[in-house]
Amino acid sequence: MGLMIALSPDVLAKYQPVIGLEVHVQLLTQTKAFCGCLNRYGGEPNTHVCPVCLGLPGALPVLNRKAVEYAVLAARAIGCEIRETSIFSRKNYFYPDSPKGYQISQFDKPIAEHGAIVVPDAAGQPKRIGITRLHLEEDAGKSVHDGFRDSASRTYIDLNRCGTPLVEIVSEPDLRTPDEAFEYLTRLKEILLYTGVSDCNMEEGSLRCDANVSVMLKGAAQFGTKAEVKNVNSFRYIRAALEYEIERQIGVLEDGGRVVQESRLWNNAEGRTFSMRSKEAAHDYRYFPEPDLPPLVVGAAWQASILEAMPELPEARRARMVAEYGISLQDAATLTAARTFADQFETAAKLAKSPRRVVALLTSELTPRLRAAELEMETSPVTLAGIVMAADLLESGELSSKQLKGLLDSCFAAHEDFAIVYQREKPQQISDTGAIEAMIDEVIVANARQVEQYRGGKKTVSAFFVGQVMRLSKGQANPAVLNERVVRKLDALGPL
Ligand code: ADP
Ligand code: ZN
Ligand code: MG
Repeated sequence: MGLMIALSPDVLAKYQPVIGLEVHVQLLTQTKAFCGCLNRYGGEPNTHVCPVCLGLPGALPVLNRKAVEYAVLAARAIGCEIRETSIFSRKNYFYPDSPKGYQISQFDKPIAEHGAIVVPDAAGQPKRIGITRLHLEEDAGKSVHDGFRDSASRTYIDLNRCGTPLVEIVSEPDLRTPDEAFEYLTRLKEILLYTGVSDCNMEEGSLRCDANVSVMLKGAAQFGTKAEVKNVNSFRYIRAALEYEIERQIGVLEDGGRVVQESRLWNNAEGRTFSMRSKEAAHDYRYFPEPDLPPLVVGAAWQASILEAMPELPEARRARMVAEYGISLQDAATLTAARTFADQFETAAKLAKSPRRVVALLTSELTPRLRAAELEMETSPVTLAGIVMAADLLESGELSSKQLKGLLDSCFAAHEDFAIVYQREKPQQISDTGAIEAMIDEVIVANARQVEQYRGGKKTVSAFFVGQVMRLSKGQANPAVLNERVVRKLDALGPL
């Protein structure tokens, strides 16, 4: 196939893309799904293995309880119903990194079904994306295609990953744009991280996504034939791969061709997908119930005890924080993106005089400085405790916001926390009432028009006087004293 010819917006607009995602997530258990081997990324190749995960004849699997508990927790967090009795099945296929010749998975009776995640659609409106199922299965080993002297002619196998517990989360074909797919994945990952069942580290492969995509003429009664894009290791690339694939399929149809049902690989360097193999249908796998494992029963009591570990989830947390701290939904979203940070923030907010001020400093002062310095909260010179201190000083009027900005700049220049910089550079402050009153008098005399407005009932004009005195004092007048004295002096003039 030649280079893609850019399609005109008119042609693109004739078609409706349809997207469904299959996400594999490794569970953070100590040991593997069906044996006692260590479940850990890396390690000397083929050292975390035993007869069970090597698939030696006669070795029998024993299901890891913790893997079930994590699956139930994850499933409930995305709104799935738990099936009390689920069945493990063998999915038969031959591949060198799967020594048993089959994968233990779940087929017609998965542990969980019928969930949903809400994402914003193109208009920012909430849209429900159905989750067909979440099932438990085991990971395969790894084929290592490079890094060896003879890699050109040989592939090496590392079975450390073989038997790692996974959940596969399958969405309904409810997504309509690459952006919606991106949002869905972002939210799914956020929820899973909150539950703590996985580290969702895409570089290490603990979260992997296959993206199914088709196009149909708008208004068509039936979905088009889908292609499945595999091997994409970041959400941004998944979005790019979907964008590419949608255009490719439209191009095929416009040329009078047909889209083939197949698996395709995303090539990051070239920014396009390539045909990998025609896609197996379910019957090719010869699924049958796993004879070496009994049905998995998760009764009401066990389920209840598992769900005791359910944290407050991001969406609920955002709503509560908006109500509790009077902050915007967008600020709440920033604060809750990572659970540890959200926890730290809430502790800090409880210690501060004004939680709202803490939020304001985080979003409008700290975040931009971190971004400019290419730092994260974890590497920030100013800690949350430092922000609480700064917020309290602002709140009590011991610091003006201009002084605070200067101090924060010094923190970043010296890479020191706020308390240290404040001790050293604490600005001179005029708290002497007499001196402040003298400056207020000066400003009142010079601004007869604003005085008249104030006396006429426009009380907000007091801010003008505060600002003028601040300027006069070069930002050094104690704001608390200043505010109080300005109002007192203006009121003493009486109404008009
Ligand atoms: P398969 O049998 O090929 O695995 P499934 O019906 O199990 O197909 O669906 C796998 C994934 O593909 C699901 O996430 C589903 O939402 C999605 N999907 C199914 N049909 C389509 C389609 N026509 N276009 C886009 N995605 C689809
Ligand atoms: Zn093992
Ligand atoms: Mg399927």
